[in-house]
Formats: sequence, structure tokens, C-alpha cells
Amino acid sequence: MHRIYLDHASTTPCDPLVLEAMRPFFFEQGGNPSSPHAEGREARKAVEDARAVMASFIGAEEGEITFTSGASESNNQAVFAAADALKDKGRHLVASAIEHHSVLEPLHRLEQEGFEVSLVKPRADGIVRSEDIQSALRPDTILVCLVHANNEIGTLQPVEETGRICRQRGTYFLVDATQTAGHLPVNINDIPCHYLSLSAHKFYGPKGVGALYIRRQAKGRALILGGDQEHGRRAGTQNTPGIVGMAAALKICRQQMSEEASREAGLRDEIIDFVLKEIPSSVLNGSRGRRLPNNAHFSFAGIKGEDLVSALDMARLSVSMGSACTWGRLEPSHVLTSLGLSPAMALGSLRVSVGRWTTREDIQYFLAQLKSKITGLR
Ligand code: PMP
Repeated sequence: MHRIYLDHASTTPCDPLVLEAMRPFFFEQGGNPSSPHAEGREARKAVEDARAVMASFIGAEEGEITFTSGASESNNQAVFAAADALKDKGRHLVASAIEHHSVLEPLHRLEQEGFEVSLVKPRADGIVRSEDIQSALRPDTILVCLVHANNEIGTLQPVEETGRICRQRGTYFLVDATQTAGHLPVNINDIPCHYLSLSAHKFYGPKGVGALYIRRQAKGRALILGGDQEHGRRAGTQNTPGIVGMAAALKICRQQMSEEASREAGLRDEIIDFVLKEIPSSVLNGSRGRRLPNNAHFSFAGIKGEDLVSALDMARLSVSMGSACTWGRLEPSHVLTSLGLSPAMALGSLRVSVGRWTTREDIQYFLAQLKSKITGLR
């Protein structure tokens, strides 16, 4: 009996076609992209071709794409670069309270170094309002950070409007598009920003590779020093197979994006409808309408999320409470508490995220198991 993986928000399995595209770059084309010989030239061409794919996907110029080890590095790089570049203009930074920790912790570090940080809470529907962000801005605000879609509750944030507000004021804007890239359109012509982060393993690419869009005019020091790779913005031999895999993964996503988003949204809606109708004392966290096509996130009264995740695991189902990065921390998630959920409801949470190979049969089995496990646990 096979397992059913419903934790795609945490990571996605690598598409076999992606692995196929990567394979030569481990072997016969395994040169260092900085080397002058044939193997090096081939690797360099592959990296630059991938850069062109990434740039065209988000509407950027090739020179605006920096390859990184993933979205955590991209977010760290963006926050520290902006603070470094603009510290003489101001020392105030604004972020939503539901950013990923790879944004919040660099901000916290800056706070310890004398910067001030204002966190803007979402409303009860899990959406931060751009007017609330606007109210938090001050003449000395240098950077605004807003996640495109939250990784726990899946709510889509008003990055377009917030970007326009930032552009009018000349404030730098970081958009963490890790949960949306590959799943929904992400284009910097619609989302005016200075930095945009993404990560291959969220869209069926390999783990450990990502990208940071850095607007041409945006300045800032590199985070990783020791080489001139990536135009001096990120030292270290490029992960050629990973970069090739990321571009291949994005191409596949692009081909099937709208069809796949509506198929996944159908499965998501089936889950939400069933839970709200069939499982008493359950709530959907985050807006019903403005959420990722693949995300459903609930709280169940009288249940510990950890127990539910373990019970479902025993029934061959992989789901999570929220964020894989914070599993094992006993306190309720910062995202759920910012919505005003009680600690008990925040700890009674479950995230279900469907993906490319999830079928209706998988969801029917999951829902039957969910109902029975909750009844059992209660
Ligand atoms: N931002 C968001 C919104 C995420 O969901 C994640 C992954 N959980 C990250 C950043 C970090 O990505 P990575 O694993 O590539 O470092």
C-alpha cells in the first residue's frame, strides 16, 4: 500500500523529467561554470540558459537573477543587503507578522544592531491589508517585507498594491514568493519590488537551490564572500545541476499552471467543504477565497495537532501542523497567534497541501481517515 503525500507546502518531490535534465551536469557536463575549458563553457552556458528561463518567468532581466541555495538564503541576503545599502537613509523596517522565519530572524538581528522593526498583523482572514502597511511606514522606513502567500495558512497577500505604495515612496520592497512561484503567475511587472525570493524544491525541482531577483538599481553587499560568481553578488561555485533542474521544473510548471491550479483548487475545495460540514468544531484558518490553490489549513477544538499528524502518519498519510521548519517547537505558531487564535486552537491545527500527483481517490481516503482519527482522538 503506497503512502499519500499531502505536504507539498513543505516540499515537493522532484519531477523525474527534472532529474533527467539535471543528470548530465553531474557527469559528462560536470565542469565548473567559471572554468575556461570545454566542460566549464558547457556548464556556464547551462547556468546562463537557466538564468534566462528564470528571468523570463518573472519578467526580469537576466542580470537581475542571482542563484542561491534556496529561499532562506535569498531572504537573508535581501534583508541584510537592503539594510546595509540604505542605513544612512533610515533605520526602520516594516514586515508582516506572518513572514517566514528566514525574513523575521534577519530582521530581529538588525533590531539587535539598532534598527527598528514594525510588524503588521493580518486581519482575522489571514490577509495583511496594504493600508495597514502604509500606516506603519515612516519617513525613515527603508524596507517593507511581504510574503506573497503565507506558507502555513496559504493566504495570498496584497503584494501588488503594497508594491505600488512602496514604489511611490521609493521604499525597498521584498516579496517572498516561495509558495507561489511555479504555482501562480509571479511577475515583477505586476508586483513592483526590489527583491523577490523563490526556491526550486517548492515546485518539483531539487532541494538546496533557489534564486533572488535583485532589481538592477538595488544595491547591497553580498552575504557570501570569496569569489566573483553571480556578478560578485554570491560567491561559490554554482550548483549547476540544481540550477538546471530549477529552470526545467519551472518550465514544466509554466506549461500546466492554470490547468493544474484549477485542478488542485477543486481538491482543496473538496477538503474544505467536507471538513466544515462533517467535522464538528472545526475552523478553516485564513480566507476561503484568497488562498493558494493547494492549501487547506484547519484548527480542531479538543485536538492536539501533533497527535493528529502522528495518527494520520500511521494511516500512510503525510500532513503537517503548519511549518516543517518549526516542527518540534512547543509554542503555537506565530502565524496562527497573529490571527487571534487561542493557544489551544493554534496547537490543534492541520495543514493539508495537495500537489501534482494527488488524486481524488487520495483525498477521499484522507477525508475518511481524518474524520475517524479526530473522532478517536476526541
Ligand atoms: N519562505 C517561505 C514562504 C517558505 O515556505 C520557505 C520554505 N518553508 C522558505 C521561505 C525557505 O525556503 P528554503 O527551504 O528554500 O530555504
